[in-house]
Amino acid sequence: MAFMCAPGKHRRPGRVKRTTAQAAGIAALTTTGVIGTVSAAPALAAENSVEQTGLTPVITMSDSVAEQIDAQAAAQQAVAERKAAEEAAREKAAEQAKKERAAKVRAAREAERKRLNTFVAPISDSYVSTGYKTGGSLWSSGAHTGIDFHAASGTVVHAVGTGTVVSTGWGGAYGNEIVIRMADGMYTQYGHLSSIGVSVGQKVTPGQQIGLSGATGNTTGPHLHFEARTTADYGSDVDPVAYLRKHGVDV
Ligand SMILES: [Zn+2]
Repeated sequence: MAFMCAPGKHRRPGRVKRTTAQAAGIAALTTTGVIGTVSAAPALAAENSVEQTGLTPVITMSDSVAEQIDAQAAAQQAVAERKAAEEAAREKAAEQAKKERAAKVRAAREAERKRLNTFVAPISDSYVSTGYKTGGSLWSSGAHTGIDFHAASGTVVHAVGTGTVVSTGWGGAYGNEIVIRMADGMYTQYGHLSSIGVSVGQKVTPGQQIGLSGATGNTTGPHLHFEARTTADYGSDVDPVAYLRKHGVDV
């Protein structure tokens, strides 16, 4: 009888094969009455576990691993592409920001250049009543060393550009005068003033009021005498119209 049971037990793996280890355990419990079966059950369980965890899982894992590898590769590819896109976007943004900064710097420099170079007329809404180098007995040199701007007495006189006041006071034939050293190294002179509103060493900006026009000194009537010079002194005069036009003044 015990001998006959043995082949039956050997068939069991076939039935138990596709069951779980737990099912094998249950089978073992139902046969606890038979000594031979009880001793055989653990061996079956062990045999089954070898078959199940050895063969079937390996195949399953092979497929799953392949799928995982594919999925991982796809995911890594996607991540790499996203990172590359993000990097490209960052670089583009950085380049754009750099361009904008450069444009701002250029604009600021341009504004500063304009501020420094753009002059104004010394008398607003006026005109040149007597031109440069005009001959006449009125001038000691025999020719006009500057230009005259038509201006009633008491008209506001402006510094034509950025500069520093180097001289103020009585200038003989020029009456009350102001001389300014301009930012470009040239000098401008303002004569026949009724009032001087600045002092030596004072910084002035384009359009700043420096005094009032008048008829002091050697003149037949009120106006502003204006000179452009290469030095602070009389005799170094250049064409004031050309000088003002060079700095953007419509005169
Ligand atoms: Zn004059």
